[in-house]
Amino acid sequence: MADPDVRERFRAFLREQNLPVTSQRLVIGDLLLNAPGHLSAEDVSSQLSEKGQVVGLATIYRTLDLLVNSGLVVERDFGEGFKRFEPARNLPHHYHLTCTVCGSVTEFLDERIEQMIRTAAAARGFVPSRHRLLVHGTCRDCRGAAPVPKRRTL
Ligand SMILES: [Zn+2]
Ligand SMILES: [Zn+2]
Repeated sequence: MADPDVRERFRAFLREQNLPVTSQRLVIGDLLLNAPGHLSAEDVSSQLSEKGQVVGLATIYRTLDLLVNSGLVVERDFGEGFKRFEPARNLPHHYHLTCTVCGSVTEFLDERIEQMIRTAAAARGFVPSRHRLLVHGTCRDCRGAAPVPKRRTL
């Protein structure tokens, strides 16, 4: 199920850096490069152990660094005190809505935000190189769940 092309690019990167192409690195690479969402190192660890693969956190962190350096994975900081990682999917610049209750991350695109930033910067003689926008809040599921009274345990 791993995309053979990105997998091969990660292998090629490891070889270029004279790093051993270990099965652990490839397993972590496959997981990250095909992840639909934004995984933390802990998520990677628990998904690997669900598959019966035991990989130490130190190895996971080192491999995540390698994936970021290879340009195949992008590091995100949602202000949670740890980093999350997502595959670089040639997406246009996108933004994140992060739920402070369940930790879910929703992506959205809106060209109007790009335009507003360009306009605001240009009006001040500023040439923007990059920007980030992160919205913290409560997702639809968590807002829906909130009013439900807790079940009494007798
Ligand atoms: Zn939520
Ligand atoms: Zn994203």
